Amino acid sequence: MSLKTVSLPSNYNYIACFLTLDCNIRCDYCINSHNSERRPLRQTISGDKWVAGLNRIDCLADIPITFQGGEPSLHPDFIRIIKNIRKDLNIDILTNLTFDIDVFIKEIDPRRLSRGASYPNIRVSYHPGYMDLTLLMKKILKMQDAGFSVGVYGILHPRIKNEVLLAQDICLKANIDFRVKEFLGRYDNKLYGTYLYPEAIGNQRRKSCLCRTTELIIGPNADVFRCHHDLYKSFAATGNLLDPEIAISNNFRECVEFGDCNPCDIKIKTNRFQVFGHTSVEIKDIAEEKVRVYPKSSIRG
Ligand code: SF4
Ligand code: SF4
Repeated sequence: MSLKTVSLPSNYNYIACFLTLDCNIRCDYCINSHNSERRPLRQTISGDKWVAGLNRIDCLADIPITFQGGEPSLHPDFIRIIKNIRKDLNIDILTNLTFDIDVFIKEIDPRRLSRGASYPNIRVSYHPGYMDLTLLMKKILKMQDAGFSVGVYGILHPRIKNEVLLAQDICLKANIDFRVKEFLGRYDNKLYGTYLYPEAIGNQRRKSCLCRTTELIIGPNADVFRCHHDLYKSFAATGNLLDPEIAISNNFRECVEFGDCNPCDIKIKTNRFQVFGHTSVEIKDIAEEKVRVYPKSSIRG
């Protein structure tokens, strides 16, 4: 399958490739199910189609394709996709590291996943209560010995914060990079997270606005979404990476879901240069909705 090049707008900062939204762990604080029941998982596409779609992308070398999910290694062609992506496209992976690392080490050249960034290219999420830290550390050290750039991050959810900080201490002493992220969302009636538009989440009252993103968000069937809210809630895609005519837009789009945004989209974070103060989307012209517009045609089951 040969498809014409798809260029990213110059303000884009991130490429998120959700090979699958399925996961073999069920963390109760998972951001993928923020403010919603888990949805039926959308169909995934074959490895060949992923390779054809991703190999169209024209982007700066410091914007890697970040495989994530769910758990990206659950895609049956996970390794084949990594091996067949164009060599000038860099790759990062967000994973819970439950996959068979011996097969991974045998099949993948560690140089394929090392671009000298200021953070590890394979970032493993640690979830106390769902994972054995000792086992996880053994796997990470084995991958490091094989030449891979691997680190851990933990979420400072108030219920598990102390366990995460203890795990961080243990890992750092074992020379394993371990970073922490703030918890995003509500717990015990308190909203956690640092947001550029605080009224955009957990608000019963929806407003209309104009919104544009700096991220290419690609769902499991190669649909492209304007934000994480739309991906997780199965709103209409703005296009599909396998569509011969797709073009990635930098334009503001109308949205009537302001108030129900996903925390990932509006939190203040670091950009790819590790400079703090970046937010995935830019929102303007926020206005009260006179009539709640929720066109059925814009929602997929
Ligand atoms: S491992 Fe990650 S994707 Fe899977 S349920 Fe936990 S937080 Fe969600
Ligand atoms: S306003 Fe919120 S829900 Fe609407 S497109 Fe922007 S981030 Fe997504």
